[in-house]
This record gives sequence, C-alpha cells and structure tokens, in this order.
Amino acid sequence: MRPSRPARHATAKPTPAAGWARALRRLCFAALVIASAALAADAPSASPTTPNEITVVLDDNYPPYIFRDRQGTLQGYLVDSWMLWSKKTGTPVQLLASDWNLAQQRMQRHQADVIDTMFENDERLKTHDFGPPYADVPVSIYSHRGIGGIASIETLRGLLVGVKDGDACVNTLNAQGINSLQAYPSYEALVQSAIRGEIRVFCLDEPPANYLLYRENAEQDFRRAFRLYSGEFHRAYHKGDSAMRTRIEAGFAAFSPQEKQALAEKWMGQPLQASDLPPAVLYALDGLAGAGILLIVWVVSLRRAVRQRTEELIATLEAIPDPMFECDPRGYCHQSFAATPTGHTAVSPINRLDGRKVDAVLPPDAATIWLNALKEAERRGRAGGFEIELDAPGEKRWIELSVARKGHRTGSDARFVVIARDITARREAEAAIRQLAHHDPLTGLPNRTVLDDRLRAAISRARRQRGQFAVLFLDIDRFKRVNDTLGHSAGDQLLIEFAQRLRAILREEDTLSRLGGDEFILVLPDTDAAGAASVAEKIIASISTPFMIDAQELACTTSIGIALYPDDGESLETLSMHADTAMYRAKSAGRNRPTFFGDPPIENK
Ligand code: GH3
Ligand code: MG
Repeated sequence: MRPSRPARHATAKPTPAAGWARALRRLCFAALVIASAALAADAPSASPTTPNEITVVLDDNYPPYIFRDRQGTLQGYLVDSWMLWSKKTGTPVQLLASDWNLAQQRMQRHQADVIDTMFENDERLKTHDFGPPYADVPVSIYSHRGIGGIASIETLRGLLVGVKDGDACVNTLNAQGINSLQAYPSYEALVQSAIRGEIRVFCLDEPPANYLLYRENAEQDFRRAFRLYSGEFHRAYHKGDSAMRTRIEAGFAAFSPQEKQALAEKWMGQPLQASDLPPAVLYALDGLAGAGILLIVWVVSLRRAVRQRTEELIATLEAIPDPMFECDPRGYCHQSFAATPTGHTAVSPINRLDGRKVDAVLPPDAATIWLNALKEAERRGRAGGFEIELDAPGEKRWIELSVARKGHRTGSDARFVVIARDITARREAEAAIRQLAHHDPLTGLPNRTVLDDRLRAAISRARRQRGQFAVLFLDIDRFKRVNDTLGHSAGDQLLIEFAQRLRAILREEDTLSRLGGDEFILVLPDTDAAGAASVAEKIIASISTPFMIDAQELACTTSIGIALYPDDGESLETLSMHADTAMYRAKSAGRNRPTFFGDPPIENK
C-alpha cells in the first residue's frame, strides 16, 4: 500500500508550488477585477451587447458536456443545447466558458445571468437559485491500477488526492476529513498530472474522466476505485433573479423529447438521465420502476409456472380415458372433460350432457341412478359403483359412475366431478366367467353345480310342502356310433340339438343339466309319477323326428330312468343314484324308453 502523504499536501497548508499557483490566480483575479471595473465604467452591463442577450458562464473543460477542440472552438452537449435554446427563444446567447473557478467568480461579480454545470450544495444555495437538475453526474475516486485497497472514503485517509479546484467534490472530501488534496485548474490538467505519475489517486466526475482517460489512451492505467456520490447538473441564477430563472428554464422546457434525445445521442451515445422533476419524485419513480420490473418478472414467471402446470394438468386429464363431468346437485352438467371420445364412448348419449341436465339427456332409469350418485356424494363426499345401462347404436353399454365432491363448496353451490367409465367389457367378461362356472360349455345347459343347487332347493320345498318331484336320468342310445361314423363334431352337434329339443318342451321351472358325455339329468319340481311319465313320453316323442347333422338324417333315441321324491329317496345323492339305476334298467330293457326306479326289474329282451 502506498505510504501516507505528509499533511503539507493538504489544501489547508499548501505546498510552495501550490502557493505560487494560488498567488498567480489571485493576480489573475485582480486583473479580472480591474478589467471588469473598466468594462463596468464603459457600459451598464458587463457583457451583453444586445439588450435581450443573455450571458452564460460555465466550465470550458467538462467533456463531453463542454470542451474546446484543437482549434480552441467550444464543443459539446451544452454548446448545442444553448444554441437550440437560443433558436427556440429567439434570444442571443453568449457562452463565456472558462476554468471552473473563473466561471464561478464571473457569476459572483454579476458578469453573467446564469452559470451552468453547477452541482447544488448548501453553500451555493446561499447565493444562487437553482433550476431543476437536467443530468445525473456520478463522481468517483480513480486510482492507478498499481494501487489496491482503495474502496471507500476511509481508505483515502493520508493519501494525496487530486481534485479540480472549486469542484463540489472538494467539499465532500473535506467534510469527511480528507484534507490532503492537490488542486488543479481543470480536469485536463488533473488527468495529465496523473498520467505523468504526479498523483496516483484523484476525484473526477465520471463523464469527463471517461472522456479524458480514453482520449489520452490511459483508461487501462487507471481504474474507478469507488463511487463517491452522484451529483446533478443544474443551471444556477443569482439569488432572487426569478425572472431570469423562469425565462431560461421555460426555453429548456420547450425542448421536445426528440430534440433532447438527439442531443443526448450525439454527445453521450445514449439518452441523458436528465429530468425536470424534483429528486424526491425521481427516487419515487425509480422505486416504482424497480417495483414494476420486479412485478413484471414475478408475473412472467408466475404465468410461465401456471402455463406449465396447466399443460401438465391437461396432459393428466387427457391420459384419463373416461369422460368426466362437472355437475351440480340438480344434475346439471356445467362442463365435460372428455379429452377425445373414442370407440363406444364417442356415440354414447353421455357425450350430449355438456351444458344440459342428466334427466334431459339420459333414459329415466339411468338419470335416476346418476342423480342418486350425486346425492350420495353430497352426503358422503364420494360415491362409487353406480352402474347405468345405455343404448348405443346396435348394442347396450354399461357405464359405472364415480363421483367426488369438488372443493369445499356446499349446498346448491356444490359441484361434483363425475367420472363415467365404460365397463361393458368388464360386465361381459364377468358374465362369461359366470356362464363358464355354472354352465356346460357345449350345450349351454346348467352344469352339475347348478343342478345340485336346484335339487337341494326342490328337496327343501317338497319337504316343506309335503310335495313331490321327479328326477330323470337320460342317456342317448348308441351315441358312440355317431362319433364313430360321422365324427366327434357331428356328435357335438347332436348333443347341442338334443338339448335344444328337450328345452323346448320343458317348463321354466324345470332344470335340464348335462352331466357329461351323452348323459343328462332333469329335475321336474312339483311332479308326481304320472307327470314324470308324461314328460318322458314327450321327450321320446320330441327326439323321434330325425336330426339333420352334416346334411345327414340321424335317428336318435334315449333311455330314461325316473326316481321320485320322496318314494325313491329324500336326498340328492340317493335320488341321483336311483334315477341312474332306473336308466340302466331301461337300457337293459331295450333302450328308447322310460323306466321308474320303483318299477319291478324287467327281463332282458
Ligand atoms: P349306450 O346306448 O349304451 O349308452 O351306448 P353309447 O354308445 O351311447 O355308449 P355311452 O353312453 O357309454 O357312451 C357315450 C359316449 O359319448 C362316450 C364318448 O366317446 C362320447 N362322448 C363323451 N363326451 C362327448 C362329447 O362331449 N362329445 C362327443 N361327440 N362325444 C362324447
Ligand atoms: Mg349312451
């Protein structure tokens, strides 16, 4: 770190060189005072030659705001700005640009109407009225790139800091106890001195610093260590000269936004951060702008999140194959979520429910079930397992309803989500399983399991009513021959048609069952011996007509054994066994006949 400079460098105790400079300046000042006095003696006003003309004093070395080119001609933002003002107001303007100290002295001596490029501070407010700020000017401490550790005012303590004489930054540094200052008449002189290595740290307004360091090709050698403060450029007037202030500021206020922009772009490369508004309002606007940006960022990210979530939800809904409805308790379906109705669902009446009441669309039975499901969901929050049968073109469809109450709304305001799942395939599969479990797959007749149930039911009813019933055991005669001569499938066909003929002559309450092979058993409730004999005769008669199997006529007979409850047995097993025995007796007796178990045995023919 650079060693601290001795106190002799402080402005309070100037160096001999600084003292000479000051003496020289005093001399110049004295000369100016004398010249002014001479001018004052000549004319009532110091500078204006035209009564209407105004005189502006300002720095002549504050690029890019104002500076002299190589020919010494004044250039910069303020020159153009004042020219435009002059054009707009029709008032001639005399720009008296000089080093900043002289500019201030001229103003103090009333040799000008206005001083430009001035920062506002308490001291200056005692003698000046300020116009509104028109540009933000950050003021920074610059240091040679070889020096580290300069990051705040505290770190400047003991260092020699280059400043421009009369600059507002002198007051700021002094107020913070930084008194070891080396003053220069202009920013240019300050920067030149820094480049020669005479000072390593200096305070400079950023616009001229950027300009001068770049122009001297020294921007790599110095860095901006930290920002000291941010000032604002004003035009300042003699205290109480409100007429001048109003007149001049009105001219600047007449600049159009396009004119302001053109000026800024010409000299700054970008619009100036100037404003005619008071600082408090500007801070508030800055805050509002910041809050606005945050709000926009928040809203944008929120909208993105909502869009993402919505897409996910839609994808989830579309993945559900079942149509969904949002209904109220009265059965009015406010909307449906059927993603893409496909298959049977596409033609089902439920697709007309959107925006209608269920009882206006569905058949009465189905509508009642739907409303009951809603009622149950209203009571319990959920309802499931409600099945409705709907007519789709050419077939019947089964739909299962699952209902859930939506959110926490109650009463007539309540809404329910109804999922309508087409369960026709499941119902068909269940029916097929039931059929397989209880029926003979070839003939479709009840199997042994069903028969046993029916027999038990018949026994208990007959026992209760002291009634009778008959069990008939049938076995087709010489069935093997059919298989052997025409083939197994012809035999199957005969079995099927044999069963159909029997079913055709039986009552609803009679049970015909295939036990296997060519054996059948028949339970005839409330039937006595005469009734059983009559049925047996009808059976024999019905199959006496030849069967047409594979385009061939087939004669078929059957032997029938009959057991009666309660005479031939009171249990399922006994009755079955005795009917079987009687059937064998019929076979023995020559087939194609009924035989009662109670009949006396017949000799073989
Ligand atoms: P009977 O007059 O003594 O009853 O002589 P039958 O030739 O009918 O002899 P039986 O009743 O003992 O034979 C039944 C035959 O039925 C035995 C078997 O080959 C045949 N069969 C068993 N189940 C099936 C079937 O599901 N389909 C076909 N086509 N034939 C079967
Ligand atoms: Mg047989």
